[in-house]
Amino acid sequence: MKVTIIGTGYVGLTTGVALAYLGHEVVGLDVDERKIESLRKGTPPIFEPHLTELMKLASERLSFTTRYEEAIPQADVVFIAVGTPSLNDGNPDLHYVRSAAEEVGRHLGDGFTVIVNKSTVPVGSGNWVESLVRDAFEARNGSVPSGRYAVVSNPEFLREGVALADTLYPDRIVVGAEDPRAVEVMYALYKPIIEQTFPAPNFLPRPEGLSAAPFITTDIPSAELIKYAANAFLALKISYINEISRLAEKVGADVTRVAQAIGLDKRIGSRFLQAGIGWGGSCFGKDTAALVATAREYGVPTPIVEAARTVNYQQREWVIEKLVNALKILKGRTVGLLGIAFKPHTDDLRDAPALDIAKKLIERGVKVKVHDPVALENARKELGDSGICYCDRAEEVAKNADALILVTEWPQYRDLDWSHVRSLMRRPLVLDGRNFLEPQAMLDLGFEYMGMGIGSLRPASNAITQ
Ligand code: NAD
Repeated sequence: MKVTIIGTGYVGLTTGVALAYLGHEVVGLDVDERKIESLRKGTPPIFEPHLTELMKLASERLSFTTRYEEAIPQADVVFIAVGTPSLNDGNPDLHYVRSAAEEVGRHLGDGFTVIVNKSTVPVGSGNWVESLVRDAFEARNGSVPSGRYAVVSNPEFLREGVALADTLYPDRIVVGAEDPRAVEVMYALYKPIIEQTFPAPNFLPRPEGLSAAPFITTDIPSAELIKYAANAFLALKISYINEISRLAEKVGADVTRVAQAIGLDKRIGSRFLQAGIGWGGSCFGKDTAALVATAREYGVPTPIVEAARTVNYQQREWVIEKLVNALKILKGRTVGLLGIAFKPHTDDLRDAPALDIAKKLIERGVKVKVHDPVALENARKELGDSGICYCDRAEEVAKNADALILVTEWPQYRDLDWSHVRSLMRRPLVLDGRNFLEPQAMLDLGFEYMGMGIGSLRPASNAITQ
């Protein structure tokens, strides 16, 4: 099939490369000329594990352009995968979607084209995009494009850092559509994934036992709501355990043990129950805000989602409070941050807790040193140079530091030579914002160790036997 992907960011590029790997002819289209130039050379402009390798394997069926007239007329399927960042009132900014939809309408070809809303867009956007395409076509051609296209909603659930595996081996594929022809096209497009018939790349092995991916078809509003409902649920699960973690700390309980034990209840499950600094990234903050904004528009209260947001952003303050409790005075101190990306295995800094924490510390007169294995360059663009020192090596942030905060649980931080790190620090204080390090091992090395929601050391008698 001929596929065009509008927007070659984290979602569009991953989707395009995966579809090309599966045998489709894919054109990636972006308005950012530098991105397209870099992609034409085979270099992804973002960091995502295995993307370069898969791009290489799919290169014969992959091309990139900035020109709509080259990419739209021939396409059987056009994905809109542009950004939908938050506006100040919580609603998503849809102007990129509008502009993409209008361009599609202007350049629609003679065949039947399925236009796919892959961007996360509010309920009602299917209708809206449909009308934008129709109006743009009519304005250019003076006639109605009846029967020539259908709009479907196909929300994306990938996680940055494991985006390719999530795309090739998804928990489910959701397609919201009114036109049965469009459902058929979407099934055919995703058939190798739905039926798991493609040869797995050796660097992305198929999970054991996986023989099919559920293909869920719905009406368009349900598909649109599924995306927001899923992200809000995950966000509130994290905020729930973070709320419990604050109580755990006060009463002298250990939230990691609490989470482990409640997570063994199959109705609850253990994932997304790790207490810590809270979520960030391009999706949870913006999508929960958009869900609240949409519900407000319809007069439906959403106190649970709003509370999840409040708890999440308070976690960032709480980190600072914990530091004040330990150091008493922040002014004039040096604090090292390990990790800036909002989670490991990505260079994405959108809504990253580390940015907020760094800014709050700088405001309080702290000299901040930061390290991240892949996001340093992006961090410099976000934070500038004043009051901040960018370190190429993780150990450098420890030098003369009064405290270290582990913000992102990059696996390599577990393997640091912590005894050397300790020797470099002015005060060997570690605030483990992700409960990622082994507390007893840190204490044995002579660190003062603080986790999130860990009020006391764990005696061996507390062990849970499974
Ligand atoms: P991104 O910012 O990384 O990429 C968007 C791309 O669209 C950019 O390269 C931009 O230049 C391009 N663009 C903007 N307007 C354009 C236009 N008119 N024509 C062509 N290209 C245009 O965004 P992303 O992270 O890939 O997210 C895209 C959408 O997918 C968002 O709605 C997001 O909420 C959703 N989503 C993201 C993730 C994620 O983990 N990043 C996961 C699921 C869903």
